Amino acid sequence: MANNYRWQAPGNGKIFDKPLGESSYMNSRTITVLKYISSKSKVSQSEFEREIKTYLAVHTEYEKNDSTPAHFFRPLLFLGFLKISSSKVLELTIEGDKFLYFYEEKDYAKCKKYILNQLDNSKYPSIATKDVKLQLFPFRILFKLLLFEHENGLSREFIKEQLIYLKSYDDVVLYEKSKNLKKIAKDIEYDKFYTWVINSLVNIEVLQVKNAHYFIADDIYEHVKGLYKNLSFESLFFNDETLLCQLDTQTAHERYKRDARLIQEAKTRDNFTCQIDAKHQTFISKGVNYVEGHHVLPMFQQKNFSFNLDVLENIISLCPSCHREIHSADNKHEILKKLYKHNILFMRKNSISQEDLQKMYYCA
Ligand SMILES: [Zn+2]
Ligand SMILES: [Zn+2]
Repeated sequence: MANNYRWQAPGNGKIFDKPLGESSYMNSRTITVLKYISSKSKVSQSEFEREIKTYLAVHTEYEKNDSTPAHFFRPLLFLGFLKISSSKVLELTIEGDKFLYFYEEKDYAKCKKYILNQLDNSKYPSIATKDVKLQLFPFRILFKLLLFEHENGLSREFIKEQLIYLKSYDDVVLYEKSKNLKKIAKDIEYDKFYTWVINSLVNIEVLQVKNAHYFIADDIYEHVKGLYKNLSFESLFFNDETLLCQLDTQTAHERYKRDARLIQEAKTRDNFTCQIDAKHQTFISKGVNYVEGHHVLPMFQQKNFSFNLDVLENIISLCPSCHREIHSADNKHEILKKLYKHNILFMRKNSISQEDLQKMYYCA
């Protein structure tokens, strides 16, 4: 029986089993699954299940086996390179799209960064793992502990037997005070999370192992530190899934300092008018028409870009109603089209398509 209160891994097998770019059985299976879905743009789960084994047999060294076809896409759902709609249609996320693009360009350093950033988004419960009764971000917890234990690393015993049983902030409170990992809950059982997920991260050199201790790989240490150093342990757990979007915003605030002067500058530049429609009247505040500053490429997307999103060109003035619409409307399509057009130069300069922008707003 699966223990619903412990970290789980989807599918059967690793996502990658060699450094990115090296050819190996799982690397080629994973990339080929992404290519297959990308070539169809959207594919129903049933069509995927009918076709994928034949497709793999033609395009890879696929060996016939009894795996359920769903096992071929679940790990990619877990990683956030795929998404599945309520009507069971699969498609690549914007990050999955970029990952595949850079993989084909052989820019593996960039690919690794996309993986890290998607691990950061992974959470329980997840559509990829069934019936998990947890509400937490597993990799944020792992990376934060690895940063704390930077000197000595995390022991294999800890990762196999303790980590996967962390289920609430209470479980790490003692650790936060004592810095003693031995005080965190312990249980012994063979576990998929260690075997497939952790070992996969070692294979692609996100983690490195020395004397049975795990460390963050040197080439990504600074990036990981940038992501987690200001996040509190408390913010790695949540109570209500419906608040996840707010949590994203909160995390972006903890991570990236914003320059308040830029918002003021943008409003002056826009002459305190709503940039969706200058005729949108609000009310007078501090002697001018009241408007709000908004980052067109949302700040929580910063980790995916090497250029700074907190710049004047990326800030736009909006009336409160348009601003709320962008953040809260069920259908943001039309207003985002206008926003894209308005910032077309900045978008083109950074190779962001209209569709990219739309996809970024699933949770903004
Ligand atoms: Zn905003
Ligand atoms: Zn407006």
